Amino acid sequence: MTTLFISDLHLEAARPDIGDQFLEFLETEAAHADALYILGDLFESWIGDDDPNTHYAEMKSAIRRLSDSGVPVYFMHGNRDFMIGEQFARDTGVTILPDPVVVDMYGEEVLLSHGDAWCTDDVQYQQMRKMTRNPEWQSMMRQKPLAERQAIAAAARAESVQHGKEIDDTISDVNAGAVEQAFVESGVTTMLHGHTHRPAVHELTVDGRPAMRIVLGDWYEHGSVVRWDDNGPDLVVIER
Ligand code: MN
Repeated sequence: MTTLFISDLHLEAARPDIGDQFLEFLETEAAHADALYILGDLFESWIGDDDPNTHYAEMKSAIRRLSDSGVPVYFMHGNRDFMIGEQFARDTGVTILPDPVVVDMYGEEVLLSHGDAWCTDDVQYQQMRKMTRNPEWQSMMRQKPLAERQAIAAAARAESVQHGKEIDDTISDVNAGAVEQAFVESGVTTMLHGHTHRPAVHELTVDGRPAMRIVLGDWYEHGSVVRWDDNGPDLVVIER
């Protein structure tokens, strides 16, 4: 049997091809999996579990069908959908995981994260992250009317796109020291994350031991999945 990992689909109504591929993935490969882990940025933006967005409702129903069929689905917040809450979990049947978290994959301990917390070279981003992950800030946001939250989210996305253009590629990638620290603190030698949209398997040495950092890709042009079974992980592209 196989456990599946995905991240960074950035689902939105304006890009129906991604949604179609996700629906097909849920109905085919994921339906036969041991479990599905979604490591953040499933949605392009999330302004609250009360969002009446019909595209998102369709995706939620499909996740519900998968979890109802008996496949455990785990969700970790990304920097686009960090406002996903308990109502979403009840609606879809997913279990929300903390970031980072260590899970057992067929006898191997693996550190899972969205990955943005390790992009410590981007100081401006980390300041914004700290603010928006504060429970008090989130509760203040949830009390705002839907239209106001939509406007705030649209402005934040525009600012994020602009910021991405202004900073160097190395700034937006993970920081080697932050990665090493995460390996040391967790005590594991394998990590898996998304966020950077730089799919790869990196082999490195931490404290004299071989370690591996697997990075999931985004779903803009095609799907990106890690299939994990008794033989270990396999990072693959799924065409559409
Ligand atoms: Mn991200």
